[in-house]
Amino acid sequence: MSGNGHKIELPANIVIRDLAQIVEKSPIEIIKKLMTNGVMATINQPVDFDTAAIVVAEYGFEAVPEAVAEAPKEEVGEVPMWRQMIAGEDNSLLKGRPPVVTILGHVDHGKTSLLDAIRQTDVAAGEAGGITQHIGAYQVEQKGRIVTFLDTPGHAAFTAMRARGAQGADVVVLVVAADDGVMPQTKEAIAHAKAARVPIIVALNKVDKPNANPERVKQQLAEQELVPDDWGGQTLVVPVSAKQKKGISDLLEAILLVADNTDIRANPGGKVIGTIIEAELDKTKGVVATLLVQNGTLQAGDIVVAGTAFGRIKAMADFHGKPMKKATPSTPALVMGLSDMPSAGDIFEVVATDREAREIVTERADAIKKKSQERKKVSLEDLFSSYEKGEAKSLNLVLKADVQGSLEPIIGELDKLGKGEITINVLYAETGNIGENDVMLASASKAIILGFSVQAEVAARRLAEAEGVDVRLYDIIYRLTEDIEKALKGMLAPEFVEKTLGKAQVLKVFGISKVGKIAGCRVIEGELRRNGKVRMKRGADIVFEGDFSSLKHEKDDVREVRTGFECGVGLRNFHDIESGDIIECYVLEKAE
Ligand code: GDP
Repeated sequence: MSGNGHKIELPANIVIRDLAQIVEKSPIEIIKKLMTNGVMATINQPVDFDTAAIVVAEYGFEAVPEAVAEAPKEEVGEVPMWRQMIAGEDNSLLKGRPPVVTILGHVDHGKTSLLDAIRQTDVAAGEAGGITQHIGAYQVEQKGRIVTFLDTPGHAAFTAMRARGAQGADVVVLVVAADDGVMPQTKEAIAHAKAARVPIIVALNKVDKPNANPERVKQQLAEQELVPDDWGGQTLVVPVSAKQKKGISDLLEAILLVADNTDIRANPGGKVIGTIIEAELDKTKGVVATLLVQNGTLQAGDIVVAGTAFGRIKAMADFHGKPMKKATPSTPALVMGLSDMPSAGDIFEVVATDREAREIVTERADAIKKKSQERKKVSLEDLFSSYEKGEAKSLNLVLKADVQGSLEPIIGELDKLGKGEITINVLYAETGNIGENDVMLASASKAIILGFSVQAEVAARRLAEAEGVDVRLYDIIYRLTEDIEKALKGMLAPEFVEKTLGKAQVLKVFGISKVGKIAGCRVIEGELRRNGKVRMKRGADIVFEGDFSSLKHEKDDVREVRTGFECGVGLRNFHDIESGDIIECYVLEKAE
């Protein structure tokens, strides 16, 4: 298509993917065009107006600055129950509440140090005796205003919260070490925050280090669509040093600034609802739980239901451990009196009577039982039917590939497919095997995981099974895109699941002329079956996937060989066998 000088509006920054869509070209083509102009960019990377203008000019368009604000991107993730509840409150009863902040970031970038530094700068905490008891949340004061921090290690709890639709935070502080830059968990955290629709502030940490390189980090952030404010973008990037306790009040200021631009309100007189932050079993005190109140005012003596736990609050304390009678919205409260351990991320509510609490808990326990029997899965197979019913309008994907070079063409292909009635959202695309975090992200966002030339780690597979997350592995790009295309058209063939039959270890390798290599093996688990599929592993690497060309016990061709027996194995069109290799035999069964 040629533009013939048609005007098109472009924003100040635009990611390649969107730019490609505007000019109706493939992102790859745009990337190539940019390369010939000396600009290296990946598909998710933004380019500025001037650069974009040059590209569109090549297709005969004239770029003009966009007049109106950029249309909001399609939002992912559900609105959590407590937010829905607050939205339903009478507007005149809503009052401002402290913002709730969670700190995310790559390991060792300084999350813990920053949380400690923020806590220590608070004078009030010092006056209260500097109790450093860890209850999973604390509050600090900045110029007379309060900020609540969730002090949960790593982002596991944040994910857990989101997975349960509770979404505790109003603001995410993303810690990025200035000497290390954007790393895989940084990207993961960005994906989480975006999916949860929580604004991100970047704490550029470790600026005291001699090898700190803030400009490089800003460039990397811009590549993640977090364009720093001093580059004309929307993201506040605050240089800090958790170690030297520098920049902390700037960070708090930034949090309050973002909070002022977000509707952070609740009704202190409304129904009491909130999120369980942490819970532990104390030998003498029983269940001690940290609750974050999100609406209403929690009081000692209230009857609380959280998940399948309930009880009357016997004692309540603030985050310093000081007794407290009332907890207003955004206040963390340490409570005793629950019958059972709730899970982090569970929603709690206050009910009028013990009986009501028991009824809710029984109902929930039944529902959980029923649900685990049904195990609703977001699979590609379900997608079309839920689309037909009007339930799904977009397909969320988590993409993992062996190398960066594979990710871009796959995203490019997926983008083409997503132009129909169902949009495709790639929430997260990274290199590496599929891990537990990927499954958590997929589960929280009802996404499907696509792996290209990668494996799913054992723990991840187990978690995917438990969470009902569809994990699909591919070695050929068109197979992957074909599946997605079929799913979008509702034509997907039934899913097959792998059932492992057994394993054998290669003891010795024989060369036989005309035949090639034969592995002398011992079956160490289950059985090998001649018509089964084979996967051969060398350490953690998979060196072969395919079929047997022969299976012999002593001199005879056999249909199967069981544990403890030795056998000779030939692999179809494959001869690079070494002793010590492990041969796995499996069959594909149609999923029920
Ligand atoms: P986390 O894994 O993100 O919680 O990171 P930690 O808070 O445990 O910090 C990791 C390491 O970085 C520790 O050795 C800290 O002492 C160090 N560190 C954290 N913040 C800073 C900082 O601002 N400057 C310097 N030089 N080191 C820091």
